[in-house]
Amino acid sequence: MNEHDHIKQAFELSAKFLAHKSYNSLTHAVLHYFRSLEGVEDATSYEIFGDSKSDSGLSIRRFPITLDETFVDRNSDLMLKALPKSKGGVTCIKFKETDYILLDITKDVMPRRIIIITGSISTADMVMLEGVFSIYANQVALLDAKERDMLTGLPNRQTMELSLNEVVSFHRHQKGDHIKPSWMVVLDIDYFKLVNDNFGHLYGDEVLLHFAELMKKTFRYTDFLFRYGGEEFVVILNNVQLEQALDIMNRFHQAVRDYAFPSGKLTVSIGFTIVDPVTPPLLHFEQADRALYYAKNHGRDQIVHFADINSRIEVHDNEIELF
Ligand code: GH3
Ligand code: MG
Ligand code: MG
Repeated sequence: MNEHDHIKQAFELSAKFLAHKSYNSLTHAVLHYFRSLEGVEDATSYEIFGDSKSDSGLSIRRFPITLDETFVDRNSDLMLKALPKSKGGVTCIKFKETDYILLDITKDVMPRRIIIITGSISTADMVMLEGVFSIYANQVALLDAKERDMLTGLPNRQTMELSLNEVVSFHRHQKGDHIKPSWMVVLDIDYFKLVNDNFGHLYGDEVLLHFAELMKKTFRYTDFLFRYGGEEFVVILNNVQLEQALDIMNRFHQAVRDYAFPSGKLTVSIGFTIVDPVTPPLLHFEQADRALYYAKNHGRDQIVHFADINSRIEVHDNEIELF
């Protein structure tokens, strides 16, 4: 290729990447491009949560998130070793006799995003790759502003609606019974207004951040977390039967009770429903929200299953109340 062709190719590539309107499709396109380069064996993208400088706080999520929980990521060891040293940008690494290229976006994005390429490439391709990386890093920051909540770094309500559509469609197309259900879970902090009233809005924000971090630590790699708005969060729990789903929710419910928030102790109310392939996606949120509403009206600090609401008959002062 002559210089003119190189420039033309670079422009075409950047136009192609700039045309993507979502983080999901952009990242797929970039990974696809890296995998097409000569010498590249594989390319994978990750979200990094927590502080890579402390041993305890690091948690890594692979992109695209899989519903298969038996999956073990082969780059984990490499990341634990390389991430604390990386200052961002493009770095070539040799680890256990294998060549890797680490692409690390540390600026303007939360959580930190990295891509790991297995293999080594020519100098000319490296120049191209560095160009693609800088376009990608800028676009990710722009798309994050649209798709994520800036305070907690969690995907926002609009992104939740897209993910829920994907999960429902996944279950619609599953045949056989080896895939366990998904659950739509809505969480709302109890009496959060008091935190703002007593400590101020900035303190309130700090509490929301701690709450989101606790979610990221407590739920599993295969669960999808969102900030729905205000002090309301959503989790799509994947690949568990009811009993295990309840265990997971109980664990988080208790973790919130035990946690020392900057404002002191807090509790959370939780409503949930099964993701049923024949129910329209947005109705799942409505059902889980109704269960949450029930929890709020019955003393808060509890977990309510939507399927249980209608069968609950409550007797107050000889009056029978049906829900
Ligand atoms: P309940 O137990 O019924 O859920 O009571 P609550 O006080 O948690 O709920 P309510 O809906 O009455 O109040 C929610 C409060 O959350 C009011 C609002 O000021 C606050 N809030 C919403 N978004 C934010 C935010 O981004 N930062 C802070 N600091 N506060 C927020
Ligand atoms: Mg609340
Ligand atoms: Mg609320």
